[in-house]
Amino acid sequence: MPLIIKDEYPEKLFREDGKRLDGRDKHELRPIKMEVGVLKNADGSAYLEWGNNKIYCAVYGPRDVHPHYLAKPDKGILRVFYRMSTFSVFERKRPAPGRREKEISMVLTDCLEPLLFLELYPGNSFEVFINVMDADGGTRCACATVAALALADAGVPMRSLVTAVAVGKIDGELVTDLSGIEDKAGDADLPCAITWFNEEFSLLQFDGKMDLKEFDKCLILAKNALTKIHEIQLNALKNKYIAIQEEYSGGKNKK
Ligand code: ADP
Repeated sequence: MPLIIKDEYPEKLFREDGKRLDGRDKHELRPIKMEVGVLKNADGSAYLEWGNNKIYCAVYGPRDVHPHYLAKPDKGILRVFYRMSTFSVFERKRPAPGRREKEISMVLTDCLEPLLFLELYPGNSFEVFINVMDADGGTRCACATVAALALADAGVPMRSLVTAVAVGKIDGELVTDLSGIEDKAGDADLPCAITWFNEEFSLLQFDGKMDLKEFDKCLILAKNALTKIHEIQLNALKNKYIAIQEEYSGGKNKK
């Protein structure tokens, strides 16, 4: 997937042949790869490659809350730490978490919380550490998606997974899964996530301009894309157990 480096905004975001700058059709997703159980020291973990985004997520919990004063006597707490590596973007990012990382951590906490049965874990915490190693647009959506997988990999009881994607508008056309340059140089960006147990949005942000009809169309585009991404998540979880089964059957089940 071509990476357009530097913040040089092209005049047009569609090529002569009608494709997007990275060669995709309007509603085509970037290539997505997911894997669970990738970090041996975490209770659960997952890795996601989504276009040029590369993201690791580690989950710990349920465990004691540190610092202790954050503990709640009637329910567990969820803490999410979204961080971008210094080398994840073209210009070195300062290592200290900035305002954007704090905001995204908060948004991701709200997005993931409905999945968990926190009422069953008074005094405990679940902690989700997300490291963006390479960033190219839509990282908050990619992080919600990979965090749900890592929580499931940790064996945390969940109502369902959550899946996220950004839809939006570039050069006046509605598109699915905006890349970094489309996010910056486009007309509008609408990151959203669905919790599958109730099919409700648990993340919906909006930046830019579009009319109400376009907004409604975007939600339909998002739903279509989310269904496909959810399938990839489920396969990533299944693949871990297929690999374990093969290992213990001495490769007898291997096709
Ligand atoms: P999201 O990654 O969820 O789309 P933003 O809209 O804030 O979040 O960022 C869009 C893209 O801009 C990011 O995916 C990343 O590629 C780039 N970006 C974010 N922060 C920085 C930064 N500090 N320096 C350079 N590029 C950045």
